[in-house]
Amino acid sequence: MSNLSEKVALVTGGSRGIGAAIAKRLAADGASVAITYAKDATAASAVVKAIEADGGKAIAIQADAADTEAVKGAVEKAVAALGKLDVLVNNAGTAIPKPFEETSFEEMDRMIDINFRGILVTTQTALKHMSDGGRIINIGSCVGERLLTPGLVAYAATKGAVKMFTQGLSREVGGRGITVNNVQPGPIDTDLNPAAGDWATPQKAATALNRYGHVDEVAALVAFVAGPESAYITGANLTVDGGTNA
Ligand code: NDP
Repeated sequence: MSNLSEKVALVTGGSRGIGAAIAKRLAADGASVAITYAKDATAASAVVKAIEADGGKAIAIQADAADTEAVKGAVEKAVAALGKLDVLVNNAGTAIPKPFEETSFEEMDRMIDINFRGILVTTQTALKHMSDGGRIINIGSCVGERLLTPGLVAYAATKGAVKMFTQGLSREVGGRGITVNNVQPGPIDTDLNPAAGDWATPQKAATALNRYGHVDEVAALVAFVAGPESAYITGANLTVDGGTNA
């Protein structure tokens, strides 16, 4: 188990799916946690209440990852409310699965703005406040390295950008003991990628384990990377994909 007591974490897109599991796991490991969300205040509030019910501390902040001022404001609010920032998890993301030639420019912009530009803005703002020895953990995707399933061309490109951003930034902030890593999930059962959906069959078949992953299986890796035992891991792309990219 990681020991995150006295640590403060910010998880973007923490109201549902993988982000909610990460927020709950970091809180269970002792961190105070701020989550952001775009639309669903009820879901965000439920995550906060679940953490508080387990004796943890959490706040929720509405901030669309595609809105520069909202993102900057969310980081400032988290630091003001919780006192500092030790761990940033850039999880907010979306996919609009369809063939590339049928993807509109607006849909491409949406994926770029949330999945990649949002990470740039959040991370640059967070670095102004981040403690030495801090952790930046990006949630990329196994498709950022290898694309086996159709309909994800633009999405995969945004995740490839997250991969290279991770590697490059690790070299700029290493002098402060800050690590930057890219956790790359494979198919994980969430609202975004339901294990029972139309897109699920080829994704499940592409795994070595012949199953979708659970959000807690991603959260466990994030908790390790956020914790003290991972201090020598940086600039790494850590895949949790059931063997999809094997
Ligand atoms: P979900 O759609 O299930 O949950 C997304 C979360 O992000 C929600 O809390 C949502 O809040 C929030 N969110 C969505 N859009 C925005 C936005 N514009 N600004 C801020 N918050 C936002 O997604 P997953 O949990 O499946 O995915 C989480 C991350 O994991 C994404 O980066 C995704 O690309 C990545 N990933 C997922 C995989 C999977 O198979 N599920 C595989 C590989 C990577 P709200 O409801 O308020 O909009």
